[in-house]
Amino acid sequence: MAEGIGEVAQVAVIGAGYAGMAAAVELATRNIPVTVFEASRVLGGRARAVETHGVTLDNGIHIMVGAYHETLRLMRQVGADPARLLLRLPLTLAYPGELLLAAPRLPAPLHMLCALLGTSGLNWSEKFAAIRFMRAIQRNNFRLSTDCTMVALLEAHRQPQRLRAYLWEPLCVAALNTPADAASAQIYLNVLRDSLAAARQASDLLLPRVDLGALFPDTAASYLAAHGGAIQRGTTIERISKEGKTYVLHSKQNRHGPFSQVIVAVAPYHLPALVKNLPELNALRESVASLRFEPIVTCYLSYPSQVRLPQAMVGHAHGITQWLFDRGRLGGPSGLLAAVISARGRHLELSNQALAERIHAEIAGVLPNLPMPLWTQVITERRATFSCTPNLQRPETITPLPGLLLAGDYVAAEYPATLETAVRSGIRAAASIGQATVD
Ligand SMILES: Cc1cc2nc3c(=O)[nH]c(=O)nc-3n(C[C@H](O)[C@H](O)[C@H](O)COP(=O)(O)OP(=O)(O)OC[C@H]3O[C@@H](n4cnc5c(N)ncnc54)[C@H](O)[C@@H]3O)c2cc1C
Repeated sequence: MAEGIGEVAQVAVIGAGYAGMAAAVELATRNIPVTVFEASRVLGGRARAVETHGVTLDNGIHIMVGAYHETLRLMRQVGADPARLLLRLPLTLAYPGELLLAAPRLPAPLHMLCALLGTSGLNWSEKFAAIRFMRAIQRNNFRLSTDCTMVALLEAHRQPQRLRAYLWEPLCVAALNTPADAASAQIYLNVLRDSLAAARQASDLLLPRVDLGALFPDTAASYLAAHGGAIQRGTTIERISKEGKTYVLHSKQNRHGPFSQVIVAVAPYHLPALVKNLPELNALRESVASLRFEPIVTCYLSYPSQVRLPQAMVGHAHGITQWLFDRGRLGGPSGLLAAVISARGRHLELSNQALAERIHAEIAGVLPNLPMPLWTQVITERRATFSCTPNLQRPETITPLPGLLLAGDYVAAEYPATLETAVRSGIRAAASIGQATVD
């Protein structure tokens, strides 16, 4: 039994996304009895495997970077070896025939300096503007006195249009899933500080070679089972009640508990309904209900097996496609490509078929003589992440109710909504177990 939480400690985690599974793994490692309740039969939440056309795909392509230290640590801890499950590439931004930025294997900060100076497709004045920008934000320790939008920051630093269009804005949309004219410059600078401007390995791209379930949550579930934890899949918790010093969870058929402490690790849009009968959380509920969301669209196109992209991941600057991935180069079937479009835009007005046709035409611009796809599958996650705008108030791990903690990618953090943010929030919530007790 863990120190400081007494004899009867039983912890419930609601939600088996990356945040909830990270919390559960941390608790199980400390020998704290934990039960995870998950509405779906599939683990992973917004980063989960889906079956379609006889293939296991993901609900959306997920990119990690070397700076995801806690996700990588927990993967190792549960036995999911990052070296085998992730393709590690030095930071490369490739727009075939237009621009290529590739970080050489040199120590920081030389890798970024050489990457920017060696970028093909930028002229010297654009390269120096990029270096000037990096040096200016570095001099201020990546801190802004007042947060503003990314576009305002780029304008203040007189960044040329092409640099914005090929480098800063695509990176902003990829990292914050928020258009640059609405995105928080401070959160973007935090991401730059810990990736591009940190040790060279921190900026490496890590591309999953397996589906997002196998990457962490499924292996974490086996780890939990081996360490005395349990997962109840297909169990939607409808409300939480406080009974004396404990919490009881209510699903349609059952009461679950009592639990001495509860970590609520659901997506922000599921939180308000779940806690509506807890008046102590009224202010929290209202603040979470005011968050706005951004979509991510992923379009899979299955081509004959000879179709390949020049790299596992390439950028696309003209049209609606933002990034293209070659799943054949990432452990998937040869010929299977995925197009990713982050954040809101005109593409949301198209039907799935029209969108797939448009994306096929854009890929044909990159790969001449492209045959027609055998099948296509569009997956639209309308609330993929919260909209990461300047000065956003995000809730803390510890709530006004003792023993009821929050985890999730929207909980207060220096980062936007990412797998790493979710994992760190889960670790923080688990670390608070035992410190907080029920009144
Ligand atoms: C298409 C897409 C692409 C993305 N790309 C990237 C990327 O490239 N890199 C990156 O780092 N991040 C990316 N993200 C963001 C990342 O997926 C999320 O930040 C992260 O998965 C959020 O994890 P979470 O555990 O906080 O929440 P969730 O994954 O939403 O987990 C919450 C879980 O709670 C469950 N739940 C909800 N209500 C209840 C209830 N009442 N009872 C029981 N269970 C409940 C849900 O079923 C879910 O499993 C992407 C997201 C999407 C959607």
